[in-house]
Amino acid sequence: MTDISRLRRDSRVVHAGQHGDPRTGAVSVPIVQSSTFRFQNADQGADRFAGRDSGPIYTRIGNPTIQALEEAVALLEGGCGAMAAATGMAAVNTVYFGLLSQGDHIVCTEALYGPSRTVLETQYSRFGVESTFVDSTDPENVRKAMRPNTRLVYLETPANPTLALTDLKACTEIAHAGGALVCVDNTFATPLLQRPLEFGCDLVLHSMTKYINGHTDVVAGIVVAKEEALYKRLLGVHRNLGGTMDPHQAWLVHRGLRTLHLRVERAQSNAMEIARYLEAHPKVDWVRFPGLESHPQHALAQRQMDGPGAVMSFGVTGGLEAGKTVIDNVQLMTLAVSLGGIETLIEHPASMTHAGISKAEKAAAGISDDLVRLAVGCEDVDDLKDDLARVLDMI
Ligand SMILES: *Cc1c(COP(=O)(O)O)cnc(C)c1O
Repeated sequence: MTDISRLRRDSRVVHAGQHGDPRTGAVSVPIVQSSTFRFQNADQGADRFAGRDSGPIYTRIGNPTIQALEEAVALLEGGCGAMAAATGMAAVNTVYFGLLSQGDHIVCTEALYGPSRTVLETQYSRFGVESTFVDSTDPENVRKAMRPNTRLVYLETPANPTLALTDLKACTEIAHAGGALVCVDNTFATPLLQRPLEFGCDLVLHSMTKYINGHTDVVAGIVVAKEEALYKRLLGVHRNLGGTMDPHQAWLVHRGLRTLHLRVERAQSNAMEIARYLEAHPKVDWVRFPGLESHPQHALAQRQMDGPGAVMSFGVTGGLEAGKTVIDNVQLMTLAVSLGGIETLIEHPASMTHAGISKAEKAAAGISDDLVRLAVGCEDVDDLKDDLARVLDMI
């Protein structure tokens, strides 16, 4: 067998975690759809519980199909181990719940995925966990927010839907100097375009509902740890919290993952062309995309990422009403939240994904009423441009 860690990126995406089935010779990882696993005798059962035998016990604790996916994502992120979760939010909660105790403090990126912020403000606050949200585009704001009881710095870059970037290296140095761990939501970038563990971050998580699965048909999440001790600590929490994955779900996500490089490359080149098209269009006021020279952190994007991704936001002349005309009249693009699938999705964050946060918080996070979010897919880019040209003519 080839040593996969010696392979180049795209070969890793295709082969990571794919050991087939030694019993039948099946090339694809089989779906081991069993809740529990027979032990040969009492000693083997005891050895599995004690960790002396790594064989499976019970699917919430571990399952070969799920472990294949965990191995693959851990390899792509450069971590020592991963925990697959039922949803992206289950992954987020494993990290929060595992690392924050009563009286602890967390510092977060301001433009955080809506529910990742809401759950801190409405649930963890009930248990005495304090949270501060800062504009992390300037690492100084993270430094100023640190307190003696800050245990976790939780970052999202590129942020949703503002596409603001956070300097992972600078913020990690600040967090570690203050004795806090760092977790990065890497959903938008994927491990192909950004690997936070390489910048010293301790944890990285994904909503695999988005690019990693990539086909708009499964919800799923994962947490990857850089070091063994932190991996083991969170694994125990994750199993007992119960937001673990199902084997059939794992198989679907792993099938999606195997074409990640092809999908990301195509969506990204489509997005680059559309961003330039929109930027030059007289009816478009502004475009935010890390691949454009006009993005305020274009230099950081080039330093920290291997590509700008495929999500952008823009505003059209005529503000909210004109934006609605765009959203309501696209034909090839679909009006739906989410991103990272093979089809292009368009949505209005202020009234949809980010409707749950207050007007003042939206303003502070840069989510204006005219902001339209476009998650570019893998269609022919000329068909996407035709769709936009037609609706922009209507305003
Ligand atoms: C979708 C999303 C999540 C939550 O994931 P679910 O799979 O919907 O639970 C978390 N973070 C980001 C950046 C997301 O886009």
